[in-house]
Parts: sequence; structure tokens; C-alpha cells
Amino acid sequence: MKNVTNWVFDLDNTLYKAECGLFDKVHILMGRFIEEKLNLSSGEAQALRSKYYHQYGTTLRGLMIEHQINPDEYLNYVHQINYDVVTPDEKLRDTIKELDGKKFIFTNANYEHVEKVLEKLKMEDIFDGCFDISESGYLPKPHKEIYDSFQEKFNLDNSSTAMFEDLHVNLKQPFAMGWKTVWVTNNLEYNLNKDVNQQEDIQKIIKEKGYISDVTDNLENFLNSIK
Ligand SMILES: [Mg+2]
Repeated sequence: MKNVTNWVFDLDNTLYKAECGLFDKVHILMGRFIEEKLNLSSGEAQALRSKYYHQYGTTLRGLMIEHQINPDEYLNYVHQINYDVVTPDEKLRDTIKELDGKKFIFTNANYEHVEKVLEKLKMEDIFDGCFDISESGYLPKPHKEIYDSFQEKFNLDNSSTAMFEDLHVNLKQPFAMGWKTVWVTNNLEYNLNKDVNQQEDIQKIIKEKGYISDVTDNLENFLNSIK
């Protein structure tokens, strides 16, 4: 991490912990949207949400491809949540602010959501740029083209860029591009698609995948340890 001058952060479940439940609220509304639009039962809708998420990278992508859903309508609907569960993290804020170089948000959510989350975290003013899902025609990470667009938008040197993400699959492409990759294990259930929290699973994944440079369950501690 010594020569890193571009710090790229995923937003949800990376800059705040999954336990706060914000994303659970989004998931409920995703399910409700699918129920209403496709006339499904609640159980069927949640199963479809999960299926598309794993198949396409986001539920939205699946809905766009399979059902021609309007992305803005969907994104506005699923983000009608109370953001109060996200609370300020001033230590993490200061740690990121003090990093030497430029800091970016790279998210599969939209700008409106980013603004609301950053406001709650009190991190509105510490990032140099943000890349949301609308920038790429709603094609999400982990699609390869999106990382190229991100890199071009901010004119980043691949060898001095590091990315921090809770979904390790989203680190595969940046690692191939020469970025350092850090898996922030805030959100293991989604990564492993089961309810676990075991060190041996983490180590097994790191070994098997080969695209994870580092791992941490505490972003602030990790960033302080590499200063
Ligand atoms: Mg995330």
C-alpha cells in the first residue's frame, strides 16, 4: 500500500457496517417493488431479488434485462428509507481524510443515496469524486467495462490505486488491472451466501480467489495500520 495515491471505496456495507440494517431496509423495498411490478408473492419476490443479485451483480440489472424495468423508477422506490440507522463515524472520517492522495466513491447505488449516506456519516466533504450506477448506463460492478470507465473518468494510474469493498467478487477486475484490493468483511452473509462468520471461510476464499490483496473486518484500523 506504500505507493497508493488513489483510494477507491465502495459505499454500502463498506463505509458503514451491515449490522446497522440500512441495506436490509433497501432489500425489503426491492422485494416490495418486484411484488408490485411483477405481481408476485412476497416470498417469490425476495427469491427473485436474490437470484438476480447473484446472477447479474445487482437486482436492478436483472429487472432491466428480464423485465424492462425503468432504473430510475426502481432506484427512487427502493431508497425511500429512513437513513437514521447510519450514524456518524468521525474516526473513520478523519482516517480517510488524512490519507495521502485522492479518495473516491465507486458504488452500484445512485447519487441521491450516496448523498444521504455520506451526510449521515458526516463524510460529505472528504471525497474527490464519486461514480454511481447511472454513469455506466446502470451496468453494475463487477462488469469489467465499468472499472475502465471509472479509471478513465478520474484518469487513475492503475499501479497506485487501491479499492476497498465488502463484496469480494467486485475486486476481481480491479486486481486484474493492477489495483491493490482490500476485502472489507462487513458483510459475510452476502459474500458466502450463507449465515457464517468464520475466519477459516475467509482464508479459504482469499486463497481460492487469488484476487484479494488484503482483508480486514475494520476499515479504520486497517487504514491506520498502513499509514
Ligand atoms: Mg457494498
